[in-house]
Amino acid sequence: MFQLINLPYAPDVLEPAISAHTLEFHHGKHLRAYVDNLNKLLPGSEYESLPLEDIVRKAPAGPVFNNAGQILNHNMYFQQFSHKPQTAPSGRLAAQIEKQWSSLDAFKAEFVAKGVGLFGSGWVWLSAAEDGSLVITQEPGAGNPVTKGLKPLLTFDVWEHAYYLDFQNRRADQLNALWGIVDWKVVEERYR
Ligand code: MN
Repeated sequence: MFQLINLPYAPDVLEPAISAHTLEFHHGKHLRAYVDNLNKLLPGSEYESLPLEDIVRKAPAGPVFNNAGQILNHNMYFQQFSHKPQTAPSGRLAAQIEKQWSSLDAFKAEFVAKGVGLFGSGWVWLSAAEDGSLVITQEPGAGNPVTKGLKPLLTFDVWEHAYYLDFQNRRADQLNALWGIVDWKVVEERYR
């Protein structure tokens, strides 16, 4: 049985980037539904005792993949934010971003452009390849870069349910606002 994660912050502290109202639905309704759905699908299946990441790697396109992927994606998404974030990367991650994009702002601009350019529902990801190089990917639906052998580090949710209550159709405004709450300490820990 998978459990709905607890948010590591009070529901109103991420405002205005993410309102308490949005969290109430996004975490309390949408993510809860993915957890409940997966828990109904798993009993008796070959995925029953696997960790979430392994289910996402192994399940073919379909309900098990979709619900497991959405749990993994949302867990990473909600846990990367803070109202008192480390506002920029440091150390090895900062150096790698500088090497590949020349500046943090150039990286952010490409990340947002790829989020805005993803047609329909999905996720934009920063991941690490085995050699430590970084890659930005667009993943439709419940996609997660672990299915490509990458290590996911950072993600922005571009499903409309993530931002419609606060930003209506202004996806770019939502994505740019998220930079103010990304805790780069968490992203750095994932890069280790
Ligand atoms: Mn979502």
